[in-house]
Amino acid sequence: KHAAKIRLDDVKGEQSREKDKADRATSEQVLDQRTRMILLQMINRGFVSEVHGAISTGKEANVYGAVAYPDLDGPPVQRAIKVYKTAILSFKDRERYITGEHRFKSGAEKGNSRKMVKLWAEKEFRNLRRIHAAGIKCPEPIQLKLHVLVMELLGDRKGYAYPRLRDAAISSEDAEEVWRSLYIQLLGIMRRMYQVCKLVHADLSEYNILYNDRQLYIIDVSQSVEHDHPRSLEFLRMDIKNTGDFFRREGVDTLSDRAVFDFVTA
Ligand code: ATP
Ligand code: MN
Repeated sequence: KHAAKIRLDDVKGEQSREKDKADRATSEQVLDQRTRMILLQMINRGFVSEVHGAISTGKEANVYGAVAYPDLDGPPVQRAIKVYKTAILSFKDRERYITGEHRFKSGAEKGNSRKMVKLWAEKEFRNLRRIHAAGIKCPEPIQLKLHVLVMELLGDRKGYAYPRLRDAAISSEDAEEVWRSLYIQLLGIMRRMYQVCKLVHADLSEYNILYNDRQLYIIDVSQSVEHDHPRSLEFLRMDIKNTGDFFRREGVDTLSDRAVFDFVTA
């Protein structure tokens, strides 16, 4: 009924020859034969019905918009597909997150970059599950296959993703009050993540938080660590500093980083 359409030129591979060179260079890095096979398999099995263009192309991953019909005659739902890149270089500096993680002692830490990206995708999937289950707003994880992660799209019904907090347009008359309440919201999220999920985000900033309608959403948790990781408190201090600095620049009268640390961990 809902014929499986792949709109993404990159999935078609060969047909993108005429496309802008830079664009192609980025996508070809990611959508190799294996990735295309995984996407086609997901389409054939009905997990995904259409794959759209890239929402974000980055060093470590590309994120694509997609549509699915989970109920045969129900409405479409928007999804996001994060495809981790199998480039070895960008994963080198990530070793410090994996080393010391008792959940990941597979011997894949070094050398095998395919295993490496699979590991990162797996880590993100499990962390998202845990965070979502704790009632913290984040994308609901839907499906994982090797280095391809399907999750809920944080965006509107047309498939437009919410902006990052960095780009959020908060300009109403009560902007000051909104910023203050967002700051308090984030303190609660960090505390809940630590106390309930037993996780430290470890890359928390205005770039990895999405914003809509006075709500914050946490994303990008592949590097998040358990709070018994030997360096978790160091990562937590970094998260607190980065987010604190951001809110201070926005004019919020924040707590001291020390006070936030005590609030989160106590
Ligand atoms: P890189 O470091 O290579 O840029 P990344 O690891 O930072 O990639 P993410 O932060 O998870 O990847 O995602 C990149 C961007 O894609 C985000 O900044 C956000 O704008 C968008 N994005 C990711 N997941 C979702 C989602 N579930 N819904 C809407 N937008 C998303
Ligand atoms: Mn990110």
